Amino acid sequence: MKNATHLLATDLDGTLVGDRPGLDELLGFYKNQEYTVSLVYITGRHFQSALSLIKEEKLPVPEILITDVGTEIHAGPEFIKDGEWEERMQQHWHPEEIDRIAASFQALQKQQLPVTNRCSYYVEDLKTVEAFERQLLAADIPHKLIYSGGRDLDILPAKSGKGAALEYILDKFDARESKILVAGDSGNDLEMLTLGLPSVIVGNAMPELLESEEHPMIFRASKVCAGGIQEAWSHFHPN
Ligand SMILES: [Mg+2]
Repeated sequence: MKNATHLLATDLDGTLVGDRPGLDELLGFYKNQEYTVSLVYITGRHFQSALSLIKEEKLPVPEILITDVGTEIHAGPEFIKDGEWEERMQQHWHPEEIDRIAASFQALQKQQLPVTNRCSYYVEDLKTVEAFERQLLAADIPHKLIYSGGRDLDILPAKSGKGAALEYILDKFDARESKILVAGDSGNDLEMLTLGLPSVIVGNAMPELLESEEHPMIFRASKVCAGGIQEAWSHFHPN
């Protein structure tokens, strides 16, 4: 990762993964380049679930694996947890209080996850999401709220998130000057897609991204999943 010249920072489900022929073509395309593309996976899955997906789909092992919507960072190939990031996550983080407030909303269904750095719920009613957030603010609980796919609600430590985690990694490994592409398909990707780095919203993106603001550094691919990544790569980094 140190001194990476080219870097793909991508979400997994619905972005890198989802269209096998497109993925094979993208990986073949990268193999044919004279440069090496460092891979950073940034997913909403929890760590074990992300590892299973990498195995099932035979994905290349990434140099960095960011899981749980940017609340855990693991450095490959052994996937050692980043302790400094972990410490940052635990500052001003009060999951019990968040769960206590959530319990007063019938429409919020707690997601059973083997992690403590995030409080995640299923909810389809936007009014409930808004009312929940008002209560979190009223109780002065530091947090970041991310609603994705009309179903997944994540309450995260204030300094976390896919965008914050990506910036942390770019700084830590001095990779700001590399040729980067950020790729995503849903609401929890928005933060990293709007950092001002070359970014792609893949063709199959969820409605919440299709409605997002236009920006010169955001490329809207016509192809789905990995095919869209390749389309954007050729757009931003033609040589
Ligand atoms: Mg996704």
